[in-house]
Amino acid sequence: MIPVIALVGRPNVGKSTLFNRLTRSRDALVADLPGLTRDRQYGHAKIEGRPFIIIDTGGITGGEVGIDGYMAEQSKLAVQEADIVLFLLDARAGLTAVDENLARELRTFGKPVHLVVNKIDGINAEAAIADFYALGFSSVNPIAAGHGRGVNVLAEEVLLPL
Ligand code: GDP
Ligand code: MG
Repeated sequence: MIPVIALVGRPNVGKSTLFNRLTRSRDALVADLPGLTRDRQYGHAKIEGRPFIIIDTGGITGGEVGIDGYMAEQSKLAVQEADIVLFLLDARAGLTAVDENLARELRTFGKPVHLVVNKIDGINAEAAIADFYALGFSSVNPIAAGHGRGVNVLAEEVLLPL
């Protein structure tokens, strides 16, 4: 079985940027406008020759009405399909109430959740990730998806062992 990895998190944390980097594609729309990817997007990644399926999601805003409700539903379906959830967080924004609610909701699926703290370029990575331990997940990787820093470590330490 090919491992399935779901990228989940608030809009604008960098899910599509990480998706593009892992799949080496430009398929996922990356934009400054939060919430642009409204559906699930599937991509193939190869890490040291091994295939993986990556699912990009539109993101969860916490406002479960209208189009946001649809996006949250897509994220839930992605989590149900996944062998591991990469829960993306924005190091620059810090921990938000939506992240805390999302953490609580993610636990109910019983899937392995790994925290990925993105946008650590130009800031102190250790200080940036310290906040996020409060979410109660022990495994955290700092990355800069836009630049690629930390992405190989994430792939080798977290994805390859699947
Ligand atoms: P998504 O909504 O979670 O899919 O987020 P996107 O991948 O569309 O990225 C949202 C914004 O964050 C875009 O303007 C990206 O260029 C920016 N971004 C993504 N990764 C990084 C990063 O590592 N560092 C910085 N500084 N910006 C990033
Ligand atoms: Mg996106």
